[in-house]
Formats: sequence, structure tokens, C-alpha cells
Amino acid sequence: MSNYAPPLDDINFCLRHLSGIDEILSLDAFDGIEVADLEQIIGEAGRFARDVIAPTNVIGDQQGVRLEDGKVLVPDAIADLHAQFVANGWQSVAGNPEFGGMGLPSAVANAVSEMVETGNLAYSLLPMLTHDGAIALEAHGTEEQKARFLSKLITGEWSGTMLLTEPQAGSDLAAVKTRAVPDGDRYRIFGTKIFITWGDHELSENIIHFVLARVEGAPEGVRGISMFLVPKFEVGDDGAIGERNDVRATSVEHKLGIHVSPTCVMSFGDDDGAIGYLLGEENKGLANMFTMMNHARLGVGLQGLAVSERAYQQACAYANDRVQGKAPGVEGRAPIIHHADVRRMLMLMRSQIEAMRAVAYSAAAEIDHSHHASGEETRQAAEARLSLLTPIVKGWCTEKSEEITSLGVQIHGGMGYVEETGAAQHYRDARILTIYEGTSGIQANDFAGRKTLGDEGRELGRLIAELREMAQELGNQQGLGDVAKSISEGLDLLEKGARWIVDKAMSHPAAVGAAAFNYMMLAGTVLGGAYLAKAAGIASSDESVDEEFAAAKRATSAFYCAHVLPRAHGYLAAMTADPGITMAIPAEAFAD
Ligand SMILES: Cc1cc2nc3c(=O)[nH]c(=O)nc-3n(C[C@H](O)[C@H](O)[C@H](O)COP(=O)(O)OP(=O)(O)OC[C@H]3O[C@@H](n4cnc5c(N)ncnc54)[C@H](O)[C@@H]3O)c2cc1C
Repeated sequence: MSNYAPPLDDINFCLRHLSGIDEILSLDAFDGIEVADLEQIIGEAGRFARDVIAPTNVIGDQQGVRLEDGKVLVPDAIADLHAQFVANGWQSVAGNPEFGGMGLPSAVANAVSEMVETGNLAYSLLPMLTHDGAIALEAHGTEEQKARFLSKLITGEWSGTMLLTEPQAGSDLAAVKTRAVPDGDRYRIFGTKIFITWGDHELSENIIHFVLARVEGAPEGVRGISMFLVPKFEVGDDGAIGERNDVRATSVEHKLGIHVSPTCVMSFGDDDGAIGYLLGEENKGLANMFTMMNHARLGVGLQGLAVSERAYQQACAYANDRVQGKAPGVEGRAPIIHHADVRRMLMLMRSQIEAMRAVAYSAAAEIDHSHHASGEETRQAAEARLSLLTPIVKGWCTEKSEEITSLGVQIHGGMGYVEETGAAQHYRDARILTIYEGTSGIQANDFAGRKTLGDEGRELGRLIAELREMAQELGNQQGLGDVAKSISEGLDLLEKGARWIVDKAMSHPAAVGAAAFNYMMLAGTVLGGAYLAKAAGIASSDESVDEEFAAAKRATSAFYCAHVLPRAHGYLAAMTADPGITMAIPAEAFAD
């Protein structure tokens, strides 16, 4: 079983050149912060992830969580880890300094989060949801609410949760039934939420629940949903912890992976109703909750990258160690890393991980620009780009994580299928990523519907044009001509896909729905390749970049173009097939 060595060379490279950290640091909000300070912070985060977080991964998987006497209990190792995480300030990296945060760019927090997530995916959900809750509170809370709750979330002394799902309301949040009854200037909340990540635990003094509920008499559907803040313990005007609120975990789920993340059924209002505070306006709750959800979607996409990196490192270690058969150029029996098919699998893992990192770090930069760029127009352009890329980061990176963690098992042979090596844990842990925070189907609908049809493909068109220009310049660089050509062809395929969505959306009732998944995968495959090629171009032309690193980037992008990018043809063919083919067998005929 291998430990984790953070790939700091690629993380720092992507932060510098894909997130464009120098440009971010030139924004007024980050005045006085130097790149060298950031590299030091990234290095420290890497050490913490390697030495403190990563060793808890297997313990967490094996020991899991339990509900005893109304308390959700996690292994001591996780409690110790969380105490250190908070004490060392890792929760507050991108937090607003007015409320106790470090005020560093989100692009930096993104790099730190990757390493935390690779260290222990199940644990990482606790800081992730706390951070995302703080962002929602900052965006939609009143000054009084922020004064009372925000700094404790930003520092991580308290934790945050997101409560949307109910038995009848999963992907379809219009069906939310949890009730909010006005009670003076607050509300009493009644209902049941299911599948709530880190819904309860004893690791922090208080837990702040961000809850979707319906005020009595509100319209049906999404237009009648409001967002509430419900603390586990009441908080006095002086900030002191008060009485236990009427919200409890009534069970924890037994599940395939992420065993140390408690997935709770939460019951509100078994007695007088849980006291809740309206966040933002009544009936505007879903839009406000999207502030939290969009950050969580980027976070879950990053989890796809993170768990893939862990599976890759483990597979590399095993492939170097395991001796089996003979290989050309190797005397005697060879470590399996010398077999071309094993190398094919390792390269599939590595090149796609690098492509995912390139996409995710490019997207993260847009968070900083959308908040802090000096002109309104620039901020809006960044917001549009971030919004376009969010379903790709979430949908494509998590789909890739299933392929990559599965390859990790395959490289281990039979030892991957048994639990002992740990390869199986990454595969099991990754399986949730395409489901929670909006399934791949929902991400694909978002990308095809709101993000493409919504503006008739204009924002995607702008991105394709920028990347085409990049590919053209890349064509002049030695050793990257073939990569540049493949990327240009890939961008043509993506453009065709987008045009099909815009032109054929009304051609059949199922046109967009039947095409959406393949369209999202087409976009992820092409954009991933393009951002990876961009990285190879920069690495090859920047003299400060180590030549070995640059040569490896050229090799991974060439492999990606040869082995992964051709899948774009298949995705385009499938998405543009007659939607009638998908719907040909009537629903009744699938009955058992
Ligand atoms: C471990 C775990 C942790 C979770 N954590 C949280 C949490 O912290 N907070 C929270 O609120 N929820 C959480 N969830 C719930 C999670 O977000 C939902 O499970 C997810 O959104 C899917 O909803 P569902 O399970 O009801 O599936 P369904 O909505 O029933 O979907 C079933 C299938 O139908 C497809 N489908 C449904 N509608 C459409 C459509 N319109 N178009 C195309 N396909 C569609 C889906 O893609 C999926 O394949 C968690 C779930 C799990 C398992």
C-alpha cells in the first residue's frame, strides 16, 4: 500500500500557468501577496496532506462511522486530523480576512483542496462543505447573520452542511417538502432530509446546516423554495453556544465507499420545530443555494482528479514492484511496468489526470477574476467562463475518475480486486462522484441546456476560438506540430457538436436529453486535450521550466492526442445519432 507524494511540480506549474496566478496576484484584492509565499504555502499543504491526512485514508475506510446514543462517531484518527487541520489554518485559506480568513486566491485554495482530497477523499468533504457554506452565507446573509456565524465557519471551528435531498426530491428539487413555519423573525423547520454528508458529528462545537425548505403557502415547484440557516446549537447575540436545536441525525448509511464520511438521515422538528433563519429572500432559495452548489460541483470535480492521482501513484508503485513475465530489453523476469500494455494503462491514467488538472485549475482562476477583476465586463466574462466550465469539471472529471481508478485496479491484477492493496478503496470511493452534487445526467443536461442552448453556443464559441488560436501558435513549436493538429481537429468536432445541439434541439422531444451525456464527454475530452496541449506548449517554451518536466508534458499530450482524443469522434457520432434510436423501445417494454 503506497502513501501519497503530492505532485508539487505539476500543481505549481498548473497554478502558475493554467490558473495564471501572476495575473490573479496583480488584482487589488491580493495586494502584497508574492508567488514565492504561495509556493511555500503549497509546499506546506503538500507536507500536511502527505504526513497527516494521507495516513488516515485506510483507517477511515476500515473503521467507518457509527451512530451511538444519538451521536455520530468517527475514528479517533479523523478527530485528531480535523483538530490539526483547523488549528493549522487550512480551512481558512481563501476566507475573507474581515472574518478571520487568510484572503488568498481561490486558485490557491483549489490547489490546497486537491491535496487534501487526495489525502483522504471522505474526510475532505467536511472542509469542502464548510467552505462552500461560508461562501453562501457571505453572499446571501444579513450583516447580523454574518457577524454571528461567518467567522466560525471560515476558521473551521464550526462546520457546514448542505441539505437538499429528501426521499421524493433527489435530482428534482422542485419536489422538496420540508416545511418552514414563520415564528416572529425566524422560522420553525419540519421535515426529513436524507443522504446528508457530515450531517452530524462531534468534531466541531457547532454545525451550521444550509437547508432548502418551503415556507407555508409558498408556490409549488422551484419558485416556492427558500434557503435557511439552521444551527445545531442556538447561538446567542454574544456568540455563545446555547440550547440544542430540534434537528438530529436518526441514522447513518452503510455504503460502497467514502466510509468515514457520515451520510445521515436528518430529522427536523420532532418536537417544536428546528429554529431556522432565512438566508436571502423567501422563494429565492434555490438560486441562492446554487452559490453553494456551484462551488461544491467544482469541489467534487476536483475530487475526481484527486482520487485519480492517488490511484495512479499506487498503480505506479505496484507496477515497479510486481515481477511477471519477460519484456523486451529487460534481463530475466521483468517488473510489469516494462510491459507495453501496463504502460498504456499508466499513460491513460497520467495523461487524463494532467488534462483534468489543467481544466480544473483553469476554471478555478475564473472564481478570482469573477469576484475581484477591476471592470464589471471582465468580472462578467469570468463568471460566464466559470459557469460554462463547471459542468465539465464536475461531469467529465468525475466520469474520468471511474475509468482511472478502475485502471488502477486492473494494473494490480487480482491484488487490485482484494482489499489488501488499497486499489479497490479508490475505485469504491470514486463511485459516488458521478452521483452526488448532481448526477452526470444532470451535469450533461446543464451543459447542453443552460450552458449551450441558453446562449446559442456563444460562450463555448468564444472558448473554442481562443483555444484554436492557442493551437495555431502551438503548431509553430518544435515537437508539438502533431498535437496542435489533433487539437484543432478536436475543436472542430466540438464545434459541430455544439451546432447540432443548437440546431436540432427541437427536432425530437428527446433530442437534447439523448445527446447530452455524449456531448458533455465530447467537450471534456476536447477541452481536456486542449488545456493539456497548452500546458505542453508553455512548458516547452518557458526557459524557467525544467526540461525533463517539459519533455514529459509533451509526451503526455502526445499520448492523449493519440489514445484519448480519438474518442471525440465516437462521442460526436453517438450524440448526433437519431434520438429516436434511444427511445425506440417503449418504457413499458423495460418492465420486469
Ligand atoms: C454518499 C452520498 C452523499 C450525499 N450527500 C448529500 C448532501 O450532503 N446533501 C444533499 O442534499 N444530498 C446529498 N446526496 C444526495 C445526492 O445529491 C443525490 O443522491 C443525487 O442528487 C441524485 O438524486 P437521487 O439519488 O434521488 O437520484 P434520482 O434523482 O432518482 O436519479 C436516478 C437516476 O435518474 C437520472 N435522472 C433523474 N432525473 C433526470 C433528468 N431530469 N434527466 C436525466 N436523468 C435524470 C439520474 O441521472 C440518475 O441516473 C448524497 C448522496 C449520497 C449517496
